[in-house]
Amino acid sequence: MTHDLIIVGTGPAGLTAGAYAGRSGLDVLFFERESIGGDLVNRHEIRSYPGFPDGVSGTELRSKMVEAAEAYDPDVELDTVEQIDPGADGAPHVLHTEGGEYEAHAVILSPGGTDQRLGVPGEETYEGRGIFHCATCDGPLYRDERIAVVGGRNHAVIDAVFLTEYASEVVVLDSEPELDADATIVAEAESHPDVEIHTETTVTEFVGEDGLLEGVAVERGASGETETLDVGGVNVNVGSVPNTDFLEGTLDLDTEGRIVVDNRMETTVPGIYAAGDARQGSPHEIAAAVGDGTTAIMAAKDHIARSAE
Ligand SMILES: Cc1cc2nc3c(=O)[nH]c(=O)nc-3n(C[C@H](O)[C@H](O)[C@H](O)COP(=O)(O)OP(=O)(O)OC[C@H]3O[C@@H](n4cnc5c(N)ncnc54)[C@H](O)[C@@H]3O)c2cc1C
Repeated sequence: MTHDLIIVGTGPAGLTAGAYAGRSGLDVLFFERESIGGDLVNRHEIRSYPGFPDGVSGTELRSKMVEAAEAYDPDVELDTVEQIDPGADGAPHVLHTEGGEYEAHAVILSPGGTDQRLGVPGEETYEGRGIFHCATCDGPLYRDERIAVVGGRNHAVIDAVFLTEYASEVVVLDSEPELDADATIVAEAESHPDVEIHTETTVTEFVGEDGLLEGVAVERGASGETETLDVGGVNVNVGSVPNTDFLEGTLDLDTEGRIVVDNRMETTVPGIYAAGDARQGSPHEIAAAVGDGTTAIMAAKDHIARSAE
């Protein structure tokens, strides 16, 4: 059977495209390798999403987006897409997954990204043993501990303030001279009694004993001084690397592995589109992922109509 459309990933980009596709009467199949809802599952509070001036919880936004996409009864497979063979001359594209082989006239890729690591000594040893990436999921494990958040962009600074709900003190470590977050978010962190901000501070090593993290070694940019800060946990919050390994050799990726698209979100393979954090130039915001999903489905619909002629 050849589907009209296959969507890889069920984050905000994929769910938006899926809801539009369902409304248009297209036959849609989703693939998801982890949790339906993508990264929203891990977000305690979403900011900067239009229509929610006071923010909205990731759980609430996720269930609304899933509800909207499921209203049209799409097929959903909990399976990982491992390879795509693009169809030549308008033939359907073939997707190879862990579980089988599937065909579609058009494909929308919205695989998002995986948390970026720092690549310093001790990171592998203490990953999951003091180092964590999801503040919502793991924050409660650090009740009454002093913890560090590495990163200075919006998501890191918001999570630093959130983590004070559990931690006794949160130290923000950022290698840049100033935090690269919105002014209101920085002001909230700066005025919080349990948040301490260290700029020009680079993490050089994670240290501990008996497999448990006890501290983080840092180097101060201006002075070059080194110091080890005692912390019970570290939230590494420095962005993501795109989940695009499975696309290497199929379509063009940029030097960071992000999917190259044109202004209709079409990749370098006709009939295959990309949306959300994994596409080149994405600002990594939910509103942008939703916009990409909308642009991609509009273009995919045209392609599917032409395939049917
Ligand atoms: C700490 C943090 C806080 C954030 N806070 C905010 C915020 O307040 N406001 C905001 O606007 N944005 C926020 N963001 C960014 C936001 O979460 C992302 O921009 C958004 O989730 C991207 O959506 P997406 O659909 O591109 O990808 P994702 O939500 O990452 O979804 C991708 C999905 O694809 C699946 N997948 C990947 N590869 C495959 C495969 N081969 N086969 C099958 N499935 C696959 C993944 O399992 C995942 O479920 C935050 C991000 C972080 C890291």
